[in-house]
Order: sequence, then structure tokens, then C-alpha cells
Amino acid sequence: MGGSKRSHRLKSNQRKRTARRNRPGGGLLLRVASDLELFNTLSGTVEPLVASDGRGLRMYACGPTVYDYGHIGNFRTFLHVDVLRRFLKQQGVAVSHVMNITDVDDKIIRNAAAAGKSIADYSAKFETAFFEDMDWLSIERPEHLPRATESISEMVSLIQRLAEKDIAYQIEDGSWYFRIDRFPEYGKLSKKDFEGLEDSVRVDNDDHDKDAARDFALWKAVKGTASGETEHHWETALGPGRPGWHIECSAMATKYLGECLDLHAGGEDLMFPHHENEIAQSESASGHCFARHWMHVRFLLVEGRKMSKSDNNFFTLRDLLLKGHRASAIRFLLISVPYRHQLNFTFDGLTESTNAIDRLRTFHQRMVMGGFAAGLNPEVAAATAKARAGYTASLANDLNTAEARAAIFDLVRAANSAADAGTLLSENVAEILAVLTLFDGVFAVLEDHDAEITRAAIAWAEREDRMDEVDASLITKLALSDADIDALVAERTQAKKSRNFARADAIRNDLLAKGIILEDSKDGVRWKRK
Ligand SMILES: [Zn+2]
Repeated sequence: MGGSKRSHRLKSNQRKRTARRNRPGGGLLLRVASDLELFNTLSGTVEPLVASDGRGLRMYACGPTVYDYGHIGNFRTFLHVDVLRRFLKQQGVAVSHVMNITDVDDKIIRNAAAAGKSIADYSAKFETAFFEDMDWLSIERPEHLPRATESISEMVSLIQRLAEKDIAYQIEDGSWYFRIDRFPEYGKLSKKDFEGLEDSVRVDNDDHDKDAARDFALWKAVKGTASGETEHHWETALGPGRPGWHIECSAMATKYLGECLDLHAGGEDLMFPHHENEIAQSESASGHCFARHWMHVRFLLVEGRKMSKSDNNFFTLRDLLLKGHRASAIRFLLISVPYRHQLNFTFDGLTESTNAIDRLRTFHQRMVMGGFAAGLNPEVAAATAKARAGYTASLANDLNTAEARAAIFDLVRAANSAADAGTLLSENVAEILAVLTLFDGVFAVLEDHDAEITRAAIAWAEREDRMDEVDASLITKLALSDADIDALVAERTQAKKSRNFARADAIRNDLLAKGIILEDSKDGVRWKRK
């Protein structure tokens, strides 16, 4: 089984190499394909994800608007995009991934003015927090992270190109709009039917100068504020103002990736109107495709309900960390349900996720510690090969993270039983560890940074004067560093050796009171935080 999978991989690698070698002169249409089949919102089918230039996948994902801390719904999207890019890289596909940072919009301008800050100063704090959150959730950094405010001239040029074709037009207050009736394919992504909507829907009552109700803003002219000052704006050939949100993504995607992307991703809430507008602007300007493949990550529910501040079920990553939940468990829960399925995020689910990670880490430690009898158990070898194949096939099948996870836990179960029965042999271990490493290349939960992340979140709460939100038991639990615990465990081992059982028990009980659990095994002592 392992052999046939390996030869399949070899063949697929040969195919990729051949494609690369033949690309420059060939008349053939050569493409680098991963083995990944991904649902394409545009075509409505699951189809191979292809790097059309034969070199690497050029992908764009809509990033955060940095006016506040990111909530777990936002991070569900960023995490599934992370799963995608990690899996592609594992499959040998180079990735050029762009994620924009929206550092100018109505809320940022309004909040910055209220705080008496420049928009750069105001958004910097949330941008820093966003990157910190990404690190805490083990989300890899995209290759490019452009800020909207650093690509204003590209946005202006794009609007000018549209204006030359009379697709962009200026209204009396100086704002520029996109003429939707010049793009008959409008709605092709979200499959909305706009016939008859024209007169019945007026989205924004302020903009009554628009030629048609559906037309959307490309450039917003500067307005005076209540206090008589002018709000933040740029002086450009289009007049003083600032870009609309949709044009940011079109301009930045094209700037970094060229005009026809291999993949565009985002949360399902962005499909309409944001992505539909991106397509309309970009394709009207270039005359050809904007993105071949579109990936949308579904929303989550929290305890069965839509997440909302008024329902008291709205959580940022930081809220959950301060309540004592581990970053790894949050990551694991947010990615364990495939991206096209709705996830019901519950605290029971978070506990289950925590336990699953503990099981995985304990198993990994058991394999690393070794001490197994010599030889190879063919049944365990077969279970290992099955897990490897199951993991890869599941992710290749529209990123089915639930099945990929199940494949690995089947192996954990089988190998643990064999180890308990004394039938797991030393030559099985290397391949088991290789499969765990493969799994962790995408899931990224094996290495334990949880305590250090929680400490960093508490330090942030202290700086922000939010210590009242920190769960009381956390402070006790984190009072001991890993090194402190290692030292106490060593002292206890020594006490036992010298038959000072009272001291050994006292150390054990003291650690338990601080949330540290010791497990004695024939291979030594393992500890973990509760
Ligand atoms: Zn976007």
C-alpha cells in the first residue's frame, strides 16, 4: 500500500518536473498541478487547482480591516487559507500568496478622528495585534502583505482606465462610481439574479446622484467633518478623496500577481458584493479573467447561534485565551470542520479539541522516547501506510480536514494498542513519526507553545488594562515556567530514588494544585498542564 502510494507520488512529481522542463519553448499548454481538487465557486464544481504559469500558484486572499481585534469567524477563514497553502507546499507547489491589509476605511477614519490620532497611528496597533494573533494561531505569513494606503496610485490608475472606457463616472460631489450595466456578467460568481432589482433596491441613500442604484463607489470624495475639518484623504488626479474598499483588492492583487490569478479566496460574506465588484472592475479594465478559481470559507456559529455582540457569543482570539483556552485547541477546532461546512463552535468542542491535542502530543512523545523491541510489525506498518494515504487523499479531496484528522487518529489508536500490547517494534517508529510530521505540516499543533502564548496574551491584557478579563485560575497555572516544572519533576525523581516518598508526594500534590499533571511510565515521567 505504502509502495503504490509512493509510486503515485513519484509519478506526480515527474509530471511536475516535466511540465517545468518543457515550459519555455513548448507549444503545449503546460501546467503545474497539485493533486488538489478544490471547489470553485465560479464554476460551481470541484476541479483541479492549477498554477497556470507552470511555476507556482498565484493566490490572493482578502485580509483584515485593522480597526479592531480579529474575531474567531475572521480567523476561521484565515486558518483555512493557511491549510490550503501549507498543503500545496507539502505537495511541492510553490505559492505566491498576497493578503491585503485594509488600513483605510470609514471606521478607521472615524475612530482615528475620535481618538485624535492619524489613521496610521490608529491602525498600527490593530495591525500589530493581527500579526500577533496570526503567530499565536500558527498561521503562516503570506509572501506579500501590502497595506492599502501604500497602493493608492495603482488604485487611481485602475479607476482612470475604467474612466477612459466610460465605465467609471464621476458624480457631483466628486466621487467616482462603477457603471454596472456595462458589465453584463455581473452576478456570475454569487449567481444572483439582478433582473428587476434595479429600481427596488437603493443600497445607499446618500448617493442619489448615481446613474443607477446598484452602481458602487470606486473613489469617495473628501467630506467635511462636523467640526469643520477635512477628513483623511489623498490629493490625486481623480480629485481629493480616498479609495473604495473593492478597488483596493483589485489593484493590489494585480500589482503583485498580474492580471489573471490562479486563485482568489475569502470568507463567504465577501462573495457579494465585494468579490463580485472586484471581478467587475478588474475584468472591465483588463478585458480578460480576473481569477480562475474562487474559494469561499463558510461562516461559523457559536453555540448554535450566529455570533453577535448583543447575543454575548462574540469572541476574539484574545477573549478565548484570557478565558484559559489554548491557542492550539482554538486552531485545531477552527480547522477540523472542512471549510465548506458550517462549524458550530462550542466550548465542549474546545475541550474535545484540547483533549485530542493532548492525545496526539502524548503519543508523539511516546514514539520519540522509543524503547521498543527490535523488528517491524507488518500490521502496524500497514496501519501507518493507510494513515499516510488517507491523510493525503482527504486533503486532496477539497481539503477534507475532518477525514485527514480521522486518518491520523486511527493510526494513534492502532499504534497505542500495539505499544500497550508490546507488539509495536522499533522499525515501525520512523514511519509513524514521518506521518505525524506530515500531518503536523498542515495542522501545526504538535509543538507546545500554549503556555507562552497565554502568557503573552496576559501581558497584553495588562498593558491594555484588561486584567479583569483574565480567568483567575490561569494566573496560578502559569506561575510556574516549563523549566521550573522540569526542575521539580527532577527533584521528585531524586526524592523517590532516595526513598523520601513524603517529599515526592508533596511535590506531586503541589504541582497538581497548580494545574500540572504528572504521569509516571516505565519510560520516565511526563507532565502536562491541565
Ligand atoms: Zn478583497
